[in-house]
Amino acid sequence: MLTRVPDPESFATGGLTDVGQVRTVNQDYCDELFDPTTGRRLLVLADGMGGHRGGEVASQLAVEAVGRAFSAGASADAGELLCTALESANALVYEKALSTPALAGMGTTCVCVLFEAPGRCAVAHVGDSRAYQLRDGKFSQITEDHSVVGSLIRMGHITEAEARLHPQRNEILRAIGTHAHVEVQMTEFDLEPGDRYLVCSDGLSGMVTDDEIRDVLATESPEAAARILVGMANLEGGTDNITVQIAVIPSEPVGALPTVDREPSPAATEPWNGERTEPLGDSDAGDAGRPLVWLLVGGALLAGVLGWLFLR
Ligand code: MG
Repeated sequence: MLTRVPDPESFATGGLTDVGQVRTVNQDYCDELFDPTTGRRLLVLADGMGGHRGGEVASQLAVEAVGRAFSAGASADAGELLCTALESANALVYEKALSTPALAGMGTTCVCVLFEAPGRCAVAHVGDSRAYQLRDGKFSQITEDHSVVGSLIRMGHITEAEARLHPQRNEILRAIGTHAHVEVQMTEFDLEPGDRYLVCSDGLSGMVTDDEIRDVLATESPEAAARILVGMANLEGGTDNITVQIAVIPSEPVGALPTVDREPSPAATEPWNGERTEPLGDSDAGDAGRPLVWLLVGGALLAGVLGWLFLR
């Protein structure tokens, strides 16, 4: 299958997690993994909940379980891999909560975005942590919030703005680890060159509007965007832990870029900004110089013939 989408190895990524302005513990946990054998790239983020250390234990257990499944599931279909990974994370957190009284009732959201060649993406999630897509200026939420306010918005009872102040805004309807079985929601689709993806906990999406997130995602590098967005959430109060992960797909396949054997210039070591450079090799000036060479050669030959005629 031909695709214009570069391999996930070349995607630019960045992320940041922050405790926020109010909490003393960061119960969010995230990771980014790349498997050189399969060429797959994974973003995984979890937002834990539960007293004592429950929330932070649950989110870390879930992310690590997904990471292990990702590393071990080289031959598996991407969608099946993520679904199985979240089910095994659920079993792990659930059993740990049952066997450890101090961790009873803990749970976590989890959202996973898996990129693979040629140009495919699988998203799996449970809870209200989100994945967004920015394509051709259109910003859309890929995931559906498994939360009370998410359901009320979908039914048309409240708006996004009202959800931010709703007394039940922290109540989620599905979580990893709170029940013996979990229902994972899956989405799979084709990637496009230039796509941008953002994964976040509700510490960002509950504090910063979608329009504000879109504007930063559209214009900044992944690392800068993550830093700016976390700063914006903190400026809005930072009432929750804030976590952001971003992946940007180059606008052109990396293999289509001109290459040359030479020492890299300082500019060449900077990230490619999507603009094509001038063609390398013979320049226009070189082509323009060729007729002059032929004129000189022709003149020299003519002078030789005339000299031979006169001296004969
Ligand atoms: Mg949260």
